[in-house]
Amino acid sequence: MADIIQLLPDHVANQIAAGEVVQRPASVVKELLENAIDAKATNIKLLIKDAGKLLIQVIDNGIGMSQTDARFSFERHATSKIKTAADLFKLNTKGFRGEALASIAAIAHVTLKTKQENQEVGTEIKIEGSTIVSQTVISTPTGTSIAVKNLFYNIPARRKFLKSNTVEMRHIMDEFHRITLAHPNISFVLFNNNKEEFNLKIANLKQRIVALFGKKTNEILVPINEQTDVVTIEGFIAKPEFAKKKRGKQFFFANNRFIKSPYLHHAVANAFETLLPAGFHPTYFLFLSVTPSEIDINIHPTKTEVKFSNEKIIYQILRSTIKHSLGQYNVAPLLDFNRDASLDIPYGFKNKPSNSPTIEVDRSYNPFKDEIATPSKGFSKQHLVKPTQNWETLYNHLDKDVQKIQDIEVNLDTPLNTTLLEEDTANGKTLQLHQKYIVSTIKSGIVYIHQQRAHERILYESFLSNLTISEATSQQLLFPLNLHFSKSEIIQIKQLQPDLEAIGFEFEKIATEAIFIKGLPVGFPTEKTQQIIEELLFNLQQDLPESSFSLLDMMAKSLSKSLAIKVGKSLNNKEQEDILNKLFLCKEPNQSPFGKPTFISINIDEINKKF
Ligand code: ADP
Ligand code: MG
Repeated sequence: MADIIQLLPDHVANQIAAGEVVQRPASVVKELLENAIDAKATNIKLLIKDAGKLLIQVIDNGIGMSQTDARFSFERHATSKIKTAADLFKLNTKGFRGEALASIAAIAHVTLKTKQENQEVGTEIKIEGSTIVSQTVISTPTGTSIAVKNLFYNIPARRKFLKSNTVEMRHIMDEFHRITLAHPNISFVLFNNNKEEFNLKIANLKQRIVALFGKKTNEILVPINEQTDVVTIEGFIAKPEFAKKKRGKQFFFANNRFIKSPYLHHAVANAFETLLPAGFHPTYFLFLSVTPSEIDINIHPTKTEVKFSNEKIIYQILRSTIKHSLGQYNVAPLLDFNRDASLDIPYGFKNKPSNSPTIEVDRSYNPFKDEIATPSKGFSKQHLVKPTQNWETLYNHLDKDVQKIQDIEVNLDTPLNTTLLEEDTANGKTLQLHQKYIVSTIKSGIVYIHQQRAHERILYESFLSNLTISEATSQQLLFPLNLHFSKSEIIQIKQLQPDLEAIGFEFEKIATEAIFIKGLPVGFPTEKTQQIIEELLFNLQQDLPESSFSLLDMMAKSLSKSLAIKVGKSLNNKEQEDILNKLFLCKEPNQSPFGKPTFISINIDEINKKF
């Protein structure tokens, strides 16, 4: 019989390899971003169209490629990153297999533009299905741009099995998060369908986390830092009260590569043990560093599992480090209405003993920092607490309002460390600062209350108690309000009707596209009713309530947000005191319904120390 074995043509071999390397658009994103990082780029742009099905482009300012290398980079097993097998054990690049570009070029239309710094002109190569279509000399900035179009155009079966744009985009975002978190020292820009979605400046890890996941993350991160002979662990965990039922923000990096490790996840979850209700997942961003020879970097291109030779010891160290940090930062669980509703008892259903809030003054922490951008616009804690060398400059930042703080009497005989509930506010010494804070003396020193957040807290608790126990009183309207809504909004309103009535709404009629209201909760601004209901419906749609209690909670949150007095509103003395007093009658006075601090206090001994 004739010989039947033959070598596969390159383009077929490449297509087969592509099956391993490129599973979906997100795989291309990962490979291209990693190449840009390996090329020492400090600025990387990612352009996505149609969830990567139409276009994935990465533009970097890295070292670029020579003309020959540019051509060669698409060959299989062509890599500049390792020369011998021994190099595998001291890898400090992301790639090393030399397969990504060859694989991608086998299944897409690729345009590469690249130029090295010392070159006058660069190279452009177009390649489709492993065939070079053109190679030209072009003028292009230093660095590399690779555009991948029409992924899987020649493998219809694969293209057909791509998921919806939402799902594919989520995979892309996962890769984007993993890579950008591991490289805060590189700036990244992401354009999705021509819209700039992220513009991540060079930052430290914390700033990068906040840039990716939102300002509110800033306040919930607890730093982790542990160095041992076996492993160094750095990064952040989120305070337990911000744990989510959704899994998601759980990131392990080993030697700066994203890894998945159910085993190490268990160590973290275990450290949170008693602090989290069942079914909740801690959020963490943890970077483990070990000697490269102690870790088995998987040779498989897409696998993220790794093996540590000291796995058990690392488990123990990780667990105790996290426990320690949770203890050190005095992180205790707070009542959180985002939690599983079945675990919480609604207000008024049970006489919950009210705890006096304990006041911790974290000297390095300024909860309002984010909102005070320029020193001239507000005070920063620095001006109040830290001694400054140029004391004259202190006054440059202070306007009249702030100046008044200096005049507030402090009673030096006051015993220290009293809690806020023992405050002495009867003498009515409050003033408003920058139409944003209410300042008052208390026995132990001075308190700054964020007027909007405090009012949100007050309204929130009062709505909640109306919703769960009492019959709310409503103000009757002389003429019924006739408000128009879409059909789907009306359906939502109908579902909410009993709850809206519980807080004081009275409906005359709910028609197919309009509602007629004859009574509103007391103090509800009639002219804003439409807007507030729209906001409520919108908020409820954003975050679908899981149970009737969490629905009530969300309603209370949404209404409190809509109705609270805002930053920028002048308050007279009576209004200031009202907020102050009502805030400290709340069950959870120290944070807004959205988890932000409502006040800070500065102890008299801290003030004394500054003199
Ligand atoms: P690997 O990254 O495993 O080496 P790739 O197929 O991803 O393999 O890339 C092949 C080679 O092309 C790399 O080794 C590198 O020399 C070069 N290369 C790829 N992307 C870039 C880039 N953005 N900038 C500079 N060189 C690049
Ligand atoms: Mg690579």
